[in-house]
Amino acid sequence: MKLLIMGAPGAGKGTQATALAERYGVPAISTGDIFRFNIRNQTPLGVKVKEMIDAGEYVPDDMTEAIVGDRLAEPDCEPGFLLDGFPRTMHQVFFLDRYLAERGKKLDAVVSLHVEPEVLVERLLARAEEQGRADDNADTIRRRMEVYAGQTAPLLFHYESKGLLVDLEGTGTVDEVRQRMFDQLDEHIAQR
Ligand code: AMP
Repeated sequence: MKLLIMGAPGAGKGTQATALAERYGVPAISTGDIFRFNIRNQTPLGVKVKEMIDAGEYVPDDMTEAIVGDRLAEPDCEPGFLLDGFPRTMHQVFFLDRYLAERGKKLDAVVSLHVEPEVLVERLLARAEEQGRADDNADTIRRRMEVYAGQTAPLLFHYESKGLLVDLEGTGTVDEVRQRMFDQLDEHIAQR
């Protein structure tokens, strides 16, 4: 299974990505987690990206694509993978399309989690209390929402036109959303 999961900040991507990856026995690859790991360990990459991420801006495409290209080349991605938080720009979409095409591979589905903006902000502020992520504060949250709406939401049209989109209502408990996601994905795969 080769899957993507997309959604605005706070939509529950990370949580559902873990469940999805476990279900299919594929690695869940979160570019956000990779960046946070590098920031925590003060690697050269971490030092470069910290300010951008703390401000709610995207990391440049070339840097993000290099990381994903390297990660997808690892042997555990051979049977499949789930990308969480990549692609986020049209440039990254073309990178991934080309990367897979060159290797004779194709995506199976793109799961998109939809949650109303007010609920997103509530969830992110709650997460700020629990996890203390530097980019979960009111100003940065607003900026991340804008960047998502401007740069990432339009990518859904690309995947819809390719017949890959599984559009999911992301409101409800974690268990409810997970079950809904599995059901819709099964339906999508059965219809191919
Ligand atoms: P996430 O954990 O997916 O919410 O990502 C946290 C932050 O990492 C984002 O707000 C961006 O600053 C950065 N980031 C993660 N993935 C990407 C990507 N595909 N392209 C550019 N920046 C990214």
